Amino acid sequence: MQDLTGPVLRKASPADFGRTPIYIVRAEPEVERFLSIGVCLRLECSNLAFTTPQLDRSLRPYLESRGRWEGRGFACVLDTDKIQAAPRTPPWLEAAIGMVIHEATHWLGYQDGANPATAGCEPGKYNGQHIDDLLRCPAWQAYYAKAPAAATGHGAPFIRAACHLWHRANAVYPLPITRCWIAGENYGLSRPETYAAALATELRATANTPIVNILRTRPPEAFAELWKRDCQR
Ligand SMILES: [Zn+2]
Repeated sequence: MQDLTGPVLRKASPADFGRTPIYIVRAEPEVERFLSIGVCLRLECSNLAFTTPQLDRSLRPYLESRGRWEGRGFACVLDTDKIQAAPRTPPWLEAAIGMVIHEATHWLGYQDGANPATAGCEPGKYNGQHIDDLLRCPAWQAYYAKAPAAATGHGAPFIRAACHLWHRANAVYPLPITRCWIAGENYGLSRPETYAAALATELRATANTPIVNILRTRPPEAFAELWKRDCQR
């Protein structure tokens, strides 16, 4: 997985990922054993793919045991078996890249403590249960069923950053990455394509700017309006 999806991130946005260690790890019991060491992970996303602000640290013993640890960086776990088996997904590698883009966007948010992409994202504390147990927990599911996208770290700054990364990945990857898990009906929001269209001018004009820097600027009016309308639905 690392060999297939990591280079896409590096090529797509070298300003953000050129020199950052990237750890894309396949979900397996051994990985989840290390995750249970994490005391208070702030989990985001589904059980197909996830990241947390401390995931690289949690995985460090596992990565070191395989000679892969290169220092702090972006880490995500992908459940490739579930991704391959999931209904309505595009060819699984493109699906996996779309998920890595989503998780990598969370990482970009972590790089800027002031970025509201991760503000207000406290769905609960992870106390060392097995990840799947946590995701099956009724309290967790109830939180996610009711929480608006902004409260789970998937608000406007997240969508804006993800659109940039998605656009850049499509420019360097030979096949279309048609599905990116950002916005859309799962979040009670307009489709990702609609958000990308509202950002079209900015996407073209800032293709070489670090995405973290773009997030510090005001978003285009059309994008801000779209988000506002979605929040009022
Ligand atoms: Zn997410």
